[in-house]
Parts: sequence; C-alpha cells; structure tokens
Amino acid sequence: MKDENFLKENNARHLWHPMGHPGDAQQNPPKIITDAEGVKITDIDGHSVVDAVGGLWCVNLGYSNDVVKEAISKQLYDLPYYSAFAGSTNPPAIEASHAVREFFEEDGMARVFFTSGGSDSVETCLRLARQYHRLRGEPTRTKFLSLKKGYHGTHFGGASVNGNNRFRLNYEPLLPGCHHLPAPYPYRNPFNETDPAKLAQNIAAVLEDEIAFQGAENIAALIMEPILGAGGVIVPDATFMPLMREICDRHGILLISDEVITGFGRTGDWSGARHWGVKPDMMSTAKGITSGYFPVGAALFSDKVAEVFETAGADGAIFTGYTYSAHPVGAAAVIATLSETKRLNTAANAGPRGTQLFEGVQKLAEKYDIIGDVRGGHGLMTGIEIVSDKAAKTPMNAATMKRIHETTYQAGAMVRLGMHNILMSPPLTITEDEVNVILSALDAGFAAA
Ligand code: PMP
Repeated sequence: MKDENFLKENNARHLWHPMGHPGDAQQNPPKIITDAEGVKITDIDGHSVVDAVGGLWCVNLGYSNDVVKEAISKQLYDLPYYSAFAGSTNPPAIEASHAVREFFEEDGMARVFFTSGGSDSVETCLRLARQYHRLRGEPTRTKFLSLKKGYHGTHFGGASVNGNNRFRLNYEPLLPGCHHLPAPYPYRNPFNETDPAKLAQNIAAVLEDEIAFQGAENIAALIMEPILGAGGVIVPDATFMPLMREICDRHGILLISDEVITGFGRTGDWSGARHWGVKPDMMSTAKGITSGYFPVGAALFSDKVAEVFETAGADGAIFTGYTYSAHPVGAAAVIATLSETKRLNTAANAGPRGTQLFEGVQKLAEKYDIIGDVRGGHGLMTGIEIVSDKAAKTPMNAATMKRIHETTYQAGAMVRLGMHNILMSPPLTITEDEVNVILSALDAGFAAA
C-alpha cells in the first residue's frame, strides 16, 4: 500500500466520490478505511469502530465471512468471467438463480435476472414492466408512479422515479411520465397527519386520484420500497403496502417492490414486502445478495409476469442486460452468501438487535431535544432525524451534523448522514454488546452537538 500522504493527496486530486462534492476532498478528507473484521472497520490512522452503516446497507454478514471469500477466490481460478448473454451460461449463475428464487419463493417470485447492482435491477424492472404491457397488448402503459422520499438508484429510469430532488435536479430532463405520491412519513407530510394509518388512507386517495388523472391505461407500474431506506428509514403503517397492492391490482398496474436494502434479512424477515403480507409482481435486489463482497444485483419476476414473456413468441426476447449479468464470480459470491445467510439465520438476529438499537435511540431521544424523530423497529434499519428546534421541526444545520458524525466516530461508531438524518444499518451478525457500543458512541455524538 502507498504511504498515507500519497493516498490523502491523490484522493483529493484524482478521485471523484459518488454523492460527494469534487472540491470537498481537500477541506474534508474522507476516512481511508484499510481493514475490517467482524462488524468493525479500521482507518489508516489505526482507529477501529463498529460499522453501524454495514458498508452501505450491504455488509449483512460482517466483514469476516471466510466461506464467501473462499468461494469468490476459488471461482476466480475456475472461470473468472464468461458472458451470460443468450447463447452461453455458467454453472454458478444457474445455481445462484436457483438459490435467489428459493429465497423469495414465498413472495411469489419465479424468475431471476442478474445485474451488477441495485440501479441496474431497478432499471431492469422498469423496462420489463413496459415490455410486459406491450406483450399483453397494452402498449400505452408506459408511465411510472413512485413515492416521494423513495430512492431507486441513479440510472435515468431510477432517477426519474426517485423521490428526492437532490438526485434529480442537476440531471433533468428525466424520463417523462413519472409521477410521485406523498411519502408515508408521519413526521412531515402535506396532510399534517401524524396517525400512520390515516396517512396511509390519504396517500391511497391520492393514488386513486392520480390514476384517474393519468388514466390507468397509461400506467405501467408503481415502484416503492417496503420500508424507505435512504430517504430516512421511513416505516409505513402496516396497511400501506397492502393498500397500494390492492389499488394497483384493481387498475392493472404492476407493483415493483424495491428490496435493494430490505431484501435478504435486513428487516428481520427475508423480504420487506413479506412484513406487510404483500406479494409484488417484480422485485429489485442487490446489496445483501453478496453481503457487498462482489457487485451483484438481481431483478425478480412473478409467475404472472414470467408467463407473459415466456409465451409471447419473438417479442418476448429481453433486449436489456449487462456485461456482468450472471458473472460467474459474482454468482459464486451469491451462492455462498445465501447459504451463509440461511445457516446463520441473520433475519432472526436482525429482529431483536434492531429492536435494541431502536429502543436505545428512543431512550437517547428523551435525553436530547435535538432528536426530532426516531424511526425503525423492523430489523436493523434505524433513522434519527435531527432538528435545531423541536417544536418547529427545523432541520439541523450541516456543520452540527458533521460534528455529531465525527464525535460519534471518535467514540466508536461509524454512522451515515443523509442531510439532517442519521442512518444506521449495521451487519445483521451484530451482537448485543456491539449495539451498545453504537448507542454509547451516539450518546457522545449528541452531547457534542
Ligand atoms: N434501490 C434502493 C432501495 C437502494 O437503497 C439503492 C442503493 N442504496 C438502489 C436502488 C441503488 O443501488 P446501487 O447503488 O447498487 O446501484
């Protein structure tokens, strides 16, 4: 490894970071993470902390899973790459598709299309939703509906259904025909409705209204996260997703569940939709599919969707896909990750550890007035909204957020900032003691606000 000065200097000079300002690396050098073990990461200065972010909502198995590491390295020697475009395939890809489908069988998923990550998986679902309707003789169904505050990646399709303007404004014009519903976010919403069940009803009414306005015959799909992740860990009422499902069904609109974060155990169950008793038509996944050890995603399709493609004749051909779709090394990572995920029953640990983290933060909220809202309670996804004035719900300024972040880090935990929210999604293998480390580090962070 090059020395510390070289790394710091060249990071600022040459490396542009996703979701970062190119000019910022000089003044605010990012942490250079060099090692990781268990649920801990270590930076170049030798400071070791519990990773309450799980990489980026993805390192579900922690950093030390040798079964996955060995599977990846063995596959590199057997077959490091071959294309899976029509005409060739490879054994790990076939086995991985079997494993992924089995994971989501209870959600009604029947077919698997591999991608290189979450944005690709979303894009694949959006494209195939349009093709599905064309194949059924309804080519006017091209529009998409989604939720404000939803995050669906950064391809033009995903950015178009994205519900946060930060990810949209500099890149417009985006895909036409994408319309957004209010988020199921009781702390802030246009109805001033704090009751989550009533809020769900209000949004359902907006959905009905929007469908009437756009014309059901023009709408391809509604895409939503079962629990909104990057938008601040927004947990809807239990009635919300079933309501969306019922309305979509009534109007022939496909429901895409974006499970890039919520899939594979993070919510305390194997999918987010399952929490709410909903079977989607399509699912986009990534992250936990390889615990972040290799860039892989998967789009999944129900029997209903599969049948339309498979019986359509020549028009059913799928003209989308990626060089690294069904990559053999990625597929080997998927097989090993899912087998380890099952063996360790990570969803079963995510439940109680998530409750511990959520309740611990709720306790901190009694101590610190800057905590405006605490969200979570469904596995290891927790969001904390920080405000400078609790009554007015004024979002906390960036300098204070940065101070909270840095003090928390120095006190033993890496957390993630999403504007004035603190977002947490630690590895699903985390122990009770390690959750307590996160809570005491946060305590120190809030004290420094
Ligand atoms: N959808 C959701 C729900 C996500 O959380 C993310 C990433 N955080 C994406 C899509 C995009 O995934 P990727 O960054 O792997 O492209």
